[in-house]
Amino acid sequence: MTLDSILEEIKKAETIVILTHETPDGDAVGSSLAMKIALRQLGKDADVIIPKYSRTFEFLPDANKIKAESEIKKYDLAISVDCSDLKRLAEGKEYFETAKTKIEIDHHSINTMFGDYNFVNPVAPACCEILIGMFEYFGIEITPELGTCIITGIITDTGGFQYSGVTAETFEFAAELLQKGVNISNVYQKVLSTKTRANFELSRIVSNRMEFLEDGKVTFTYMNLEDEKNVGAEEGDHEGLVELGRNIEGVEVSIFIRQKEGTEGYKVSLRSKEYVNVADVAIMLGGGGHIKAAGCFVQGTVEEVKQKVLSEIRKVLK
Ligand code: AMP
Ligand code: MN
Ligand code: MN
Repeated sequence: MTLDSILEEIKKAETIVILTHETPDGDAVGSSLAMKIALRQLGKDADVIIPKYSRTFEFLPDANKIKAESEIKKYDLAISVDCSDLKRLAEGKEYFETAKTKIEIDHHSINTMFGDYNFVNPVAPACCEILIGMFEYFGIEITPELGTCIITGIITDTGGFQYSGVTAETFEFAAELLQKGVNISNVYQKVLSTKTRANFELSRIVSNRMEFLEDGKVTFTYMNLEDEKNVGAEEGDHEGLVELGRNIEGVEVSIFIRQKEGTEGYKVSLRSKEYVNVADVAIMLGGGGHIKAAGCFVQGTVEEVKQKVLSEIRKVLK
């Protein structure tokens, strides 16, 4: 079984690196740190390499041990968490490619199975939910520190238990974590309810620019590098802006595009409410994701990107 092989590889490895996707969200950072803490119980001191992440997650146990890069260039084992393909590992790609053994643990429906061992469950609402099952199988004790990282991924990827991917098991895991002393309400407050001032200022800007298209079923808005500069935005300050459109009555698809530094284009974020599969739309544009939350990169000006994305959405909008 893959899980037994994964445990065997972990036990064998002397140097281990944990990697995740670029512009990491709570599930990416939470999964990485949960893996680091779990491996410590197995007697392994693994490096977590995340070049940039939001300060929202700085409260997480062991976050102060996250490295931006490493002097080790060839690890015995690389473990990728919450990442659907090699390209999205961005700066971590090299560490993954050069490692002797490569393990990939993920929950994206479109996954390129880029590891030697791929443990992918596309119906899990968060990578952290896969990890808790895996750790229990490995006999790892779910301590409050480990549980704090895990619940962070579950809370952020499910929008606070609201998305349809949430199952009875999700609540069972949450109940178990609560019993083990994890302060869920504190994590919820920190990662979902608290907004930075810059995030709030950006929400004003993108709300003002919000357009209602296709009989109000689609919203579109955008943000440029200049906007980020004007409000003093930091890493992660765009989080949640794409939800503004989707939360409006009658809207099925929300499109939010963000100018990407050093490119001639925009990072596109897509969210749907009931029936549109935005992962399919993102794939047509070279990206990927989940049925109701997906993304891609599209070259062009705001207007060009808008038209390219809209033409794909029109094909799937009822
Ligand atoms: P975002 O809108 O950036 O929050 O991304 C929504 C979901 O789509 C996340 O699960 C991402 O991992 C995934 N995603 C975003 N951009 C891409 C991309 N370029 N390729 C593959 N998956 C993506
Ligand atoms: Mn993620
Ligand atoms: Mn995730």
